[in-house]
Amino acid sequence: MKRKIGVITSGGDSPGMNAALRAVVRSGIASGVSVVGFFAGYDGIIDNRYMDMDVGSVSGIINRGGTILRTARSARFMKKEGRLAALETLRKHRCDSLVVIGGDGSFRGAEVFSKEFNFPVIGVPGSIDNDIGGTDYSIGFDTAVNTAIMAIDKIRETAESHDRVFVIEVMGRTRGFIAIEAAMAGGAEGLLVPEVKPDLDRLSERIKRGHNRGKTSSIIIVSEGAGGADMHAHPEDDNLPRNPDISISYKVANAIFERTGLEVRVCVLGHLQRGGPPSAYDRSLASQLSAAAVDLIIGGSSGIMVGRQSGKIVASPFSDAWEKCISLDCHMLDLVERLGR
Ligand code: ADP
Repeated sequence: MKRKIGVITSGGDSPGMNAALRAVVRSGIASGVSVVGFFAGYDGIIDNRYMDMDVGSVSGIINRGGTILRTARSARFMKKEGRLAALETLRKHRCDSLVVIGGDGSFRGAEVFSKEFNFPVIGVPGSIDNDIGGTDYSIGFDTAVNTAIMAIDKIRETAESHDRVFVIEVMGRTRGFIAIEAAMAGGAEGLLVPEVKPDLDRLSERIKRGHNRGKTSSIIIVSEGAGGADMHAHPEDDNLPRNPDISISYKVANAIFERTGLEVRVCVLGHLQRGGPPSAYDRSLASQLSAAAVDLIIGGSSGIMVGRQSGKIVASPFSDAWEKCISLDCHMLDLVERLGR
């Protein structure tokens, strides 16, 4: 009987997921396997919302951000009944395996499902945050950093014209990977990441010193999760509403203003960083990883994710995704400071 692979994009979207999808479909078909795509992540499998994917179904998408299959977080898949419903759908379609394109959360679900029902699943890492172990880079990270850089370059021009400090917030609730790369490549004067306790006195001192030396602008890159609970819980508060969605950057800007007297503006890049055409790097990474995932699944592998480590395509257990995530490079943090004086 002809083999059939199911595929979903799941969790947070990232640019390059479409390129990954294209590679799953086309390498599957080239190997004589049919592919069925389910809409909106695990929910689409549970609800049997699907499309049979032929070669033409993925035409013209390699250059598009987002995901044509759409994505979602599925509360139902967290429960056994939901996963049973998903299994039933996969059986109905005579799928013998599943490729999950998503982040570490999606891989946790994939691991539970594949163990529970002994159903072959392979993961392709897609996340703008690069917070997935088992791979040096996840699909979408490079694009997100380049989007941030483009914005930083533009903001730098206006900041210079007006002699201003700009606090630019990038994505990263728990990890500062986007922030550190954006700060390095954008020539930032300061950087706040979730992994390191913020020292706003020291940061302000540095900004003041630069200003006194004749610097016409300062760019401070802040991860959305910088400071963590510590900073959100500061007692001597300003008048900001206590809404967790209110960006921490306004607090950072206030603190710098109070300490330096300089004019400070805030720019929250937000979801800008998720959209846009994927970079060449992400398209190529997505294509290679997804083709490898299909080869592995056809070869009988399961319970693993594909990744690229030191230039080589490798397979690792799903648990590497959350157990072996790399740490932020402290030398890079120092270097950003040394170069952005
Ligand atoms: P990402 O893949 O971007 O990290 P999430 O963390 O939101 O995104 O995970 C995506 C989905 O994976 C969740 O909405 C849920 O359906 C599924 N999932 C995550 N963890 C588990 C788990 N322990 N058991 C079952 N499903 C899970």
